[in-house]
Amino acid sequence: MPAILTGRIIDEGLIGRDLPVLVRLIVLSLAVTLAANLIGVMESYFTTWISQHVTFDLRNKMFRHLQAMSHGFFMDSRQGDIITRMTSDISGVQQTISGTMTGILSNLLTLIIALVAMYQRNWILATLGIVLVPLFTLPTKKVGKTRWNLTREAQESQDEINNILNETLSVSGQLLVKLFVREKTEADRYEAVNRKMIGLNIRESMAGRWFRVALSTFSSIGPMLIYLVGGYLMIQRGADLTVGDITVLVSLLGRMYGPVNSLMSIQVDWIRSMALFTRIFEYFDLSVEVKNAQEPIVLEKVNGTVEFNNVEFAYGDKTILRDVSFRLESGKSIALVGPSGAGKSTLVNLIPRLFDVTGGSVTLDDVDVRALDLGFLRQQVGMVTQDTYLFQGTIRDNLLYAKPDATEQELEEACKKANIHDFIVEQELGYDSPVGNRGLKLSGGEKQRISIARVLLKDPAIIIFDEATSALDSISEQLIQEAMETLMKSRTTIIIAHRLSTIQSADEILVLSGGMVEERGRHSELLMENGLYHKLWETQSIDNGNSI
Ligand code: ADP
Repeated sequence: MPAILTGRIIDEGLIGRDLPVLVRLIVLSLAVTLAANLIGVMESYFTTWISQHVTFDLRNKMFRHLQAMSHGFFMDSRQGDIITRMTSDISGVQQTISGTMTGILSNLLTLIIALVAMYQRNWILATLGIVLVPLFTLPTKKVGKTRWNLTREAQESQDEINNILNETLSVSGQLLVKLFVREKTEADRYEAVNRKMIGLNIRESMAGRWFRVALSTFSSIGPMLIYLVGGYLMIQRGADLTVGDITVLVSLLGRMYGPVNSLMSIQVDWIRSMALFTRIFEYFDLSVEVKNAQEPIVLEKVNGTVEFNNVEFAYGDKTILRDVSFRLESGKSIALVGPSGAGKSTLVNLIPRLFDVTGGSVTLDDVDVRALDLGFLRQQVGMVTQDTYLFQGTIRDNLLYAKPDATEQELEEACKKANIHDFIVEQELGYDSPVGNRGLKLSGGEKQRISIARVLLKDPAIIIFDEATSALDSISEQLIQEAMETLMKSRTTIIIAHRLSTIQSADEILVLSGGMVEERGRHSELLMENGLYHKLWETQSIDNGNSI
C-alpha cells in the first residue's frame, strides 16, 4: 500500500498539480503506516508469546525426560553437557522460532502482493526485477552449513565451560584446586576454552555478515536496472509509463527484495538452529533404559522377601556380577563383604532397579522387580549410603522429602529414633535450620543421622546400608549404630559391611569376590573355613581394631 500510494502522490498529486488529492493521499498514507505499525505490535506480541510457550514446553518436556533417565545416564554424562542443553541450546532455538514462524507467513504474503502489483504496472520491468532473485539463493546453503558447524562447535565449547565451572566452583572441586595449588592452571584452562568460544562466535557472526553484504549488493542492482530500462522505454520508445509508475515499481521491488532477503536469512538461521535442535533431540532420542512395565504390578501387602536368581550384570561388555543367587527372607538381614570393586554396590543397586540385570532375575516377594510398578518398588526400598545428599533448604524440608504429609510428631519421632532430635532442637532455628552451602555446616555423622531419619519416615520394607558408617569416627558410629538398629527392626536388611559388630549379627554373610559369591554363612562358620573371609577379617582387624 505505501508503495502504491507514493506512486499516486507523484502522478496525481504532484505532476497532476491537484492539492486536495495530494492532501487526501498523504492522510491516507499516514493512516496506512499507522495501521501497519499497530499490526506490527500485535505481531510481536504473538510471536513472543508463541516462541516463549514453545520453549516452555520444550524445557518441561526435556526436564521430565531427564527425570526418567536411568542412574547410569547420570553416572556417565557430564553435568555441564546436561546444563547447556537445558539452558543455552533451548534458548537458542527460541530465537529462531520467534523469527521464523510469523516471518515466513508475513514475508510470503508481502512478496506475493508486491509481485502482483508489479505485474499490473509493467510486465517487462517486473520480470527484470525478478530475474535477479535466484542470485539471492546462491550463498544461502553454504552460509547455512558453515554456521551449522560453527554453532555446533560453539555449543560444545559451552559444554566444556559449564563442566569446568561445575567442577572447579563446587565446594569439593574448589578444595581440590586449593590443596593442589591448581588455581592458575584452572584459570588458564578456563581462559583457553573461553577464547576458543569467542573465536567461534565471531566467525559465526561474520559468516552471516558476508552473506548480508552479498544480498544487499544484489538488492541495489535491481532498482538501477528498472530506472535504466524504464527510463529507456519511456524516453526513447514513448512507452505508456509515468514517473509515478517507475517510482512505484522501484518501491515495490524494495518491498519484494525485503521478504526475499528475510526468507533467505530465515533459511540460514533455520539451518543454524538445526544444530541446536540436533543437540536437544539427541537427548530426547535417548531411550529410557529402566522403564516401567507395560502393566505394572502393585502388591497389596509387602513382606520384603528378596531373592536373586542367577543374577548377571554387565556395564557394556564388562561383566561385574556373575551367577549371584541368594534368598533373603522377610525381616532377616544379610551382610555383604568383599574387597573393594567386588560388586557389592552394584548388587544392591539392582534391587530398586537403579540398573536392570543383564541375566537372571531379582524378585521382591517372588515377583520379578521388572514387573512391579517402578515407583511402588522404589517406595519399598530405603538406602543409606556413605555420601548423604541433603538439598538446599531447611532440615524439615529435607525430612519431608520422604513423606510430604508427615506430622510434626512423626518428624520428631523419626529424628529421636535416628539419634538426631537432640542435636536439631539445640540449633537456634530447630527444625527450620537451613542446611546446604548457605546453611548449617553439618558433620558427616549428623548428615548421616538426618538421612536415617528420612528413611525412617519413608518406612520401607527393605533397607540397604551401603558403607553407611565407614567414613565416621567411633562416637558418631555408636550413635548411628543405634539408629541403624532401630531402622533394621522388622525390616529386611542388606548391609554392605565394614564393622564387625553389624556383620556378626547378620543372619547370613555373603563374601563377594570378582562379582561372584565366594563364601557364605555366619561369622563363626566363615572364620572356620579359613578362606577369603578369614583373610579379610584378619588383615582388617589388625589395621582397625574391631572393624572389617
Ligand atoms: P564395591 O561396592 O564392591 O566396591 P562396585 O559395585 O562399586 O564395587 O563396583 C564393581 C565394579 O564395577 C568395579 O570394578 C567398578 O569399576 C565397576 N563399575 C562401577 N560403576 C561402573 C560404571 N558406571 N561403568 C562401568 N563400570 C563400573
